[in-house]
Amino acid sequence: MKEDQIIIIGGGLLGLATANALLDRGEKVLVLERSEETALETSFANAGMLTPSQSAPWNSPPDIARILSGIGRKDSPMTLSVKQIPSLFFWGLKFMFYSRPQSFERISREIFSLANYSKLLTKNIRDSENIRYDESTKGTMKIFRDSERLQQSFDFSKRIYGDSTTKLLNREEVIDLEPQLKEIKDLEGGLHYRSDETGDAYKFCKALEDIVRRKGGRILVKTNIKKIHVNKGKVNSIVTERAVLRARRVIVCAGSWSKDLLKDSGIRIPIRPVKGYSLTYDTSGINDKPKISIIDEGVHIAITPFDNRIRVAGTAEFVGFNEEIHPKRIKYLNAMLKLIYPDLYSKIDLDEGEVWQGFRPMSADGLPFIGETRVKGLFVNTGHGQLGWTLAMGSADLIADHVIGVETQIDSKPYLMNR
Ligand SMILES: Cc1cc2nc3c(=O)[nH]c(=O)nc-3n(C[C@H](O)[C@H](O)[C@H](O)COP(=O)(O)OP(=O)(O)OC[C@H]3O[C@@H](n4cnc5c(N)ncnc54)[C@H](O)[C@@H]3O)c2cc1C
Repeated sequence: MKEDQIIIIGGGLLGLATANALLDRGEKVLVLERSEETALETSFANAGMLTPSQSAPWNSPPDIARILSGIGRKDSPMTLSVKQIPSLFFWGLKFMFYSRPQSFERISREIFSLANYSKLLTKNIRDSENIRYDESTKGTMKIFRDSERLQQSFDFSKRIYGDSTTKLLNREEVIDLEPQLKEIKDLEGGLHYRSDETGDAYKFCKALEDIVRRKGGRILVKTNIKKIHVNKGKVNSIVTERAVLRARRVIVCAGSWSKDLLKDSGIRIPIRPVKGYSLTYDTSGINDKPKISIIDEGVHIAITPFDNRIRVAGTAEFVGFNEEIHPKRIKYLNAMLKLIYPDLYSKIDLDEGEVWQGFRPMSADGLPFIGETRVKGLFVNTGHGQLGWTLAMGSADLIADHVIGVETQIDSKPYLMNR
């Protein structure tokens, strides 16, 4: 087995983007994925947004209040299972600790910096490789039913991100931009994040997979990594169900499963799965359908139109790796779609919707982990939470530079393991 190749564990957005970035630096890579195919876990049917505009972590005081008020409930946008409280205890304390205004604002800026860099690299690969993934560059829009919250969010974008691409809209301007929102009676206004983009993350992954293979990268599916062996503080080998592979450099991109994989090597990483759902409906043949991706601030829901489909995504459940698709969740997402787009809702075939659930790999402070662990040769690129696609290409660029030992293009200190 070639020891000079870099082994990447996990074939989701982060694993594939990492492989691509290393190939561009002349390295040999082997991606190992346990599923039948790449990108079948959290990168499969997410909300489809590339949103530097949404760089704030999910531990703002209103979010924490929502999570706490959702304890034991299945009909609110954020829920916390009572059974999970012990395993979330220390993680939860950190999550709350980083919600202090100073940390919250610093972290929001640090995520924004990586998200913007990432968006540039996403555009670069789209243009250079001419890939298509139902992409749209119309931006995204957040809608508000409360004028005070609207103004606060606008001020936050300006003050924290120094973002001049966000436009404050009154009700009429929101409807001009997206006429299908006309039915919402209590709509106060919105924010148009003009530089955000959208698209289908799964299609993006498949395009990336082709690029990786074409550049000479190897991808093996149905390969479950059982253990990473460490010897005298250095990575030594990885153990699959069929073989032991010698390796000097390993990058863990295993999303929500990274924590358990790293634990045996003595590395503790504060990542917990936060479950979310999406529903995707066929909209081909329907006239007057939504054109721009929206986030509804009040109900924590995102709705993204693709070429001939529409996807409603959301909810945050702290329920561990519980894969149950709960009917109340589906009901909730459908109710939100009806509330926001009643006309479209009446025209779609509800029986043909594709239901999906995924586990966001959420770090306690909201920042991803990108860099070497204290085990020499063992790297991580994981913990991207609700923003894994938004941050994928930039994070891959940073980890690739770390692995080959050159200076990164943007400051990478905020994302290091020992930050
Ligand atoms: C409802 C929802 C909506 C979202 N919307 C957005 C959005 O609009 N924009 C955005 O930027 N982000 C969004 N996200 C977040 C984003 O989807 C994730 O952050 C991202 O997919 C994480 O990618 P990943 O590669 O780290 O993890 P994954 O995609 O989960 O990939 C990890 C891979 O590792 C493999 N693996 C795990 N353990 C092993 C092992 N032992 N051996 C081999 N392979 C292993 C898994 O099978 C998996 O394929 C959303 C998430 C959800 C749930």
